[in-house]
Amino acid sequence: MKICHTIDEMRAVRVAARGVGKTIGLVPTMGALHEGHLSLVRMAKAQCDLVVVSIFVNPLQFGPNEDLAKYPRNFDRDCDLLEREGVDFILAPSVEEMYPAGAVTYVTVESLSDKLCGRSRPGHFRGVTTVVSKLFNIVQPDRAFFGQKDAAQSTIIRRMVRDLNIPVQVVIGAIVREPDGLAMSSRNAYLDVPQRKSALVLHRSLQTVQALFDQGERRVQTLIEAGKQAFGRDPSVQLDYLEIVDPETLDPVDDLSRGALVAVAAFVGKARLIDNLVLPGNT
Ligand code: AMP
Repeated sequence: MKICHTIDEMRAVRVAARGVGKTIGLVPTMGALHEGHLSLVRMAKAQCDLVVVSIFVNPLQFGPNEDLAKYPRNFDRDCDLLEREGVDFILAPSVEEMYPAGAVTYVTVESLSDKLCGRSRPGHFRGVTTVVSKLFNIVQPDRAFFGQKDAAQSTIIRRMVRDLNIPVQVVIGAIVREPDGLAMSSRNAYLDVPQRKSALVLHRSLQTVQALFDQGERRVQTLIEAGKQAFGRDPSVQLDYLEIVDPETLDPVDDLSRGALVAVAAFVGKARLIDNLVLPGNT
């Protein structure tokens, strides 16, 4: 496994791979890897000749009062995990390498980027789409792998790829959960023991919605209210949103016949956690 710290090194790898007709899969991450990331790595291994995992804590997608400085970082452990998975290349550029002085160009997917997490985190999705398009330009992958855990992010990246004719196939992997249902996240490391217990409420609220839906409930407001009710009154939990939206436009829906995304975000202590559920449409 080779670690590329510069864009030039990564480009040389790309050129060499193309020369021998090998396909490249890219898994973009911010490190602090867990089984959710590794599930994407395994998909990439199965579908591509060579796998690149990028590890870059992207300052552009953090707001001024967010957790950039204390975001969990464990590069050596990440390298060990990726080596064990048979990853070929890690791209681990510095912030200066990615954003040299004078960088003022951004990619924005308009109208989608201020929905769901974009509403509570202004500029977040602009940071994501800018860094992901840079990674696409640097690595020029044949396929890129993202998690359904960040459902809005996946929608926005697919739209960016479509709108800008980026020659990459976007593949979305299912949400990987802890045995008790908590969606895996690097930010779970912020939780102390009682908060870890409290954090289960995100999944519980989605299960409440799912159960009602399975019983035939199709009134969107009723489903939303039931999901919110599940949050109860735990003082360490603050619900940010629970919405039922169109998975393509991220706009609220009132008709579930074409399927919908139930998305939830909440602070548990200082950790901002998200989770979601896809409701199938009528077939
Ligand atoms: P992050 O390092 O949090 O930016 O995540 C990197 C990639 O891993 C993103 O595409 C995420 O959607 C994906 N990911 C994070 N957590 C999970 C999970 N629990 N299950 C599946 N994919 C995940």
